[in-house]
Amino acid sequence: MTTLRLVLGDQLNPQHSWFRSPDPQVVYVLMEVRQETDYVLHHAQKIIAIFAAMRDFARQLEAAGHRVHYLRIDDPANQQSLPANLDGLIARHGARAFEYQAPDEWRLDRQLAEYASQLPIPAWMVESEHFYTRRDEAAQLFAGRSQWLMEHFYRQMRSRHGVLLAAPGKPLGGQWNFDHDNRKPWPGLPREPADWRGTHDHSALWQAILQAGVASFGELAAAQFRWPLNRAEALQQLDDFISEALPHFGDFQDALTYRAWRLFHSLLSFALNTKMLNPREVVARVEAAHAAGQVPLAAAEGFIRQILGWREYVRGVYWAHMPGYAEHNAFNHQRPLPGWFWSGQTKMRCLAHAIGQSLDHAYAHHIQRLMVIGNFALLAGLDPAAVHRWYLGVYIDAFEWVELPNTVGMSQFADGGKLATKPYVSSAAYIDRMSDYCKGCHYDRKARVGERACPFNALYWDFFARHRERLGANPRLGMVYRQLAKMAPAALAEVQTRADQLRADIESL
Ligand SMILES: Cc1cc2nc3c(=O)[nH]c(=O)nc-3n(C[C@H](O)[C@H](O)[C@H](O)COP(=O)(O)OP(=O)(O)OC[C@H]3O[C@@H](n4cnc5c(N)ncnc54)[C@H](O)[C@@H]3O)c2cc1C
Ligand code: SF4
Repeated sequence: MTTLRLVLGDQLNPQHSWFRSPDPQVVYVLMEVRQETDYVLHHAQKIIAIFAAMRDFARQLEAAGHRVHYLRIDDPANQQSLPANLDGLIARHGARAFEYQAPDEWRLDRQLAEYASQLPIPAWMVESEHFYTRRDEAAQLFAGRSQWLMEHFYRQMRSRHGVLLAAPGKPLGGQWNFDHDNRKPWPGLPREPADWRGTHDHSALWQAILQAGVASFGELAAAQFRWPLNRAEALQQLDDFISEALPHFGDFQDALTYRAWRLFHSLLSFALNTKMLNPREVVARVEAAHAAGQVPLAAAEGFIRQILGWREYVRGVYWAHMPGYAEHNAFNHQRPLPGWFWSGQTKMRCLAHAIGQSLDHAYAHHIQRLMVIGNFALLAGLDPAAVHRWYLGVYIDAFEWVELPNTVGMSQFADGGKLATKPYVSSAAYIDRMSDYCKGCHYDRKARVGERACPFNALYWDFFARHRERLGANPRLGMVYRQLAKMAPAALAEVQTRADQLRADIESL
């Protein structure tokens, strides 16, 4: 009796219990489908990376003795959707059972659950065996609480999983969080390590993608393609990150610079989100590097907090609030994205760099995503659903379960504060403190009004003035509203006129 097992493009985990030993009665199916390339416009590197990694994974399964049916994008038998292809493959292999791993995206979870429920053969979903937490675990932890504080979740995770503890319930170094040590701007030293990742050439795959008519955007980087395509490469990249960059990760985690696009970040999100790497092994290796004296505690803790804390937490937020989370628009912001989101051509140096490198590398680090691009989008009143689609398309690591809460919740505050305790916005002062963008920018970081005044400044005060009703009582914004109250009415009116002009001229900023 043959069983058909579906492996999705973000389920490339060779350590899954499915693959423990080959079974001639099991056929693994992987498929490159337009359904997945077309639900949003994707960066070219993201499409290539996922397809190339899927192909690599299929080859490795076959080499290990598993039966594999792989449908390439240009296979004439490819119906370009999961259900249509599954119908054909079940018939072709005479399958008497169908299995799939729990999808991480609500869209696929619904589609496959519905598909499985209508099949005339037994069908069931198994765990993906990747995350620390179940889908509903964060919701259970926060049951009855109005605020879902990440820090509370994170401490629970540290205790429960025994990570960086001096004794049960006691954090190593006497404190749970070293965030206050992690806010330094980067003075240019230590140098950004050379890119430790190897290259791949995907010209042939890219031709097949093009011929299939898949639309995309962003720089191709065909001969300089560096995203890991399998677990061995991902593990090597993890080791290289730990020795080359992690010791400085904590210090410069929030730093912004036009002189470097990676700084000391790991670039591991693609490998993690496609499940080549397991979060437990990443955390264990970082903890071990600290124990061996290779990495300061603040760096190890800062990094582990991202994986054990933020990553699991946003997943919990996603599953607790789907469906419908993508439609939140607490401020009723409706403005479409300006064209320069697709070209990086703006006189605002911070945005030109952050968007430019997103288009070049399908990557920007957290603070670029949050405090440069997201900050501007929120201040300018861009439609959060359009912002969500852009983030979902542009980044190599963008899968809805992690992208959506980060974009709609953390960055755009469009959920009205389910995830963030206050909107993450700033004037030029913060960007200037954390970066070298402002000196050399067309705009004047200190001015609020006038042709050359930094757009962030007027938009910042205008944002808080416009949303006083919703935000005025937020205790974390007390200082902002006290400052706003001190602004003379004429000065505020001038700022608001400038903000109106900026929004009207948004294409030419
Ligand atoms: C608006 C916005 C959109 C984002 N979209 C995504 C996305 O689509 N996919 C994605 O994986 N991350 C997303 N993030 C989180 C974060 O920016 C990326 O995980 C990180 O930049 C990836 O680069 P890195 O691997 O070099 O991360 P590092 O800075 O080296 O961090 C290590 C790891 O921690 C995890 N991590 C860090 N921050 C977060 C976070 N806020 N949420 C979840 N995991 C986190 C990631 O797995 C990351 O690989 C988004 C953040 C913002 C503000
Ligand atoms: S002056 Fe304003 S627009 Fe220019 S880099 Fe600084 S924050 Fe960005």
